[in-house]
Amino acid sequence: MYLYNSATHRKDLFTAHTPGRVEMYTCGPTVYHFAHIGNLRSYIMEDALEKYLRYEGFEVNRVMNITDVGHLSSDADTGEDKMLMGARREHKTVMEIAQFYTGAFFDDCRKLNIRTPDTVQPATGLIPEFIEMVQGLLDKGYAYIAGGNVYFDTSRLQRYHVFFDHDEEDLQVGVREGVEEDLSKRNKNDFVLWFTRSKFEDQALKWDSPWGVGYPGWHIECSAISLKYNGEYLDLHCGGIDNAFPHHTNEIAQSESYLGHPWCPWWFHVHHLNTGDGKMSKSKGEFLTVSLLEQRGYDPLAYRFFCLQSHYRKALVFTWENLDNAQGAYRKLIARVAALRPGDGPVDEAAVAAQREKFKGAVGNDLNTSLGITAVYDALKLAVNDATKLAVLDDFDRVLSLDLTKKAAAKRAEDAKAIAATDASGFTVTGEGDPEIDALVRARAEAKKAGNFAEADRIRDELRKNGVELTDVPGGVIWKRV
Ligand SMILES: [Zn+2]
Repeated sequence: MYLYNSATHRKDLFTAHTPGRVEMYTCGPTVYHFAHIGNLRSYIMEDALEKYLRYEGFEVNRVMNITDVGHLSSDADTGEDKMLMGARREHKTVMEIAQFYTGAFFDDCRKLNIRTPDTVQPATGLIPEFIEMVQGLLDKGYAYIAGGNVYFDTSRLQRYHVFFDHDEEDLQVGVREGVEEDLSKRNKNDFVLWFTRSKFEDQALKWDSPWGVGYPGWHIECSAISLKYNGEYLDLHCGGIDNAFPHHTNEIAQSESYLGHPWCPWWFHVHHLNTGDGKMSKSKGEFLTVSLLEQRGYDPLAYRFFCLQSHYRKALVFTWENLDNAQGAYRKLIARVAALRPGDGPVDEAAVAAQREKFKGAVGNDLNTSLGITAVYDALKLAVNDATKLAVLDDFDRVLSLDLTKKAAAKRAEDAKAIAATDASGFTVTGEGDPEIDALVRARAEAKKAGNFAEADRIRDELRKNGVELTDVPGGVIWKRV
């Protein structure tokens, strides 16, 4: 596939160090709170990338860390430990917080059809490896001890800012913003590899080390975890664009200095999900989670559909209206797939293969998932039988993971159950043949007709509480249990 590389600022043909096998690393979540849907946009697009590489025939070894220690509230080395913040907020221990939010993260991933990486490694499980790497950097003269902490010495590098062509001075602003200067650092961009001195004496998790009791810096965990599970040559590193600096920049500095050779040639960065008033964050505005979307009646896969409709290198604007549009389009698509008749003849394998090539041409050009979705609509218009169309959709869904044929089959089964009853006035209630619910639906229609909208809403809410959703259609109502 052709893939844009943030390290070279170019789109090139993707190749792996070992032909046919991709060593892939993704920065995982810091598990101190629920993931917001902006974070999850990155994981959805990384999932599509992984699945597309598999679709092209690569074997993929995907590794992800779980940050359960060491990530301070600022991406620089200052502020409070995020995990400790979470524990204080909820009056729990740090490990309880980590377990709870790790579980919540993977629940969200499951709902969004995001595959769990081959290896998921919590940072607290690999402390000896971090210590070994920090010691190696000290031995090679890339690190120094000052004020009780171990720092990486960025002045030893030929080139530190690998992702941006900006002046270094511009980037210093980001480092300084709202942050007390750490007087132990020799250079402004130096960063902590191992803390023994924290402003916060009650840092909950500490380990013994050659430099005293302390805890690792955030950046070292990704370098060491990738080295352990991906080996010395990583092919593809993924993350949100805001991780490019300082986090990924620091990972490269550490890994290449430690290994003594180039480390990872391909960098894949997903851009932000913005709300109307800027970048989405946990601290600002409404805290948008998958659970909140569900509470408001959205299918998590409609959010996946929404993300896949736009390119990962463009900021995506989230509004409820945009999500409504995506959900509407997704439901219509499922309805169209449901209208196909499975097994109406033999699958035309040549047609499936031709569509596969077309899909590769679209998605294989810098993960253009939006064109991948266009290919789905095109496939529905093909002059082939329905069984072939369904086979094509199943093939595309190996990458898109929108459950197209699965949801369509469920819809077919549900539609088959539906029983329609028309009364004397011509009002049709279509449901599952429950007279009690039918009666309430009719009572609501009469209330509406009489202009008593409060009563109509009350009945709808009551039904919803009992798991019954109503859809108003011309001449009647369709209800179903959800
Ligand atoms: Zn990372």
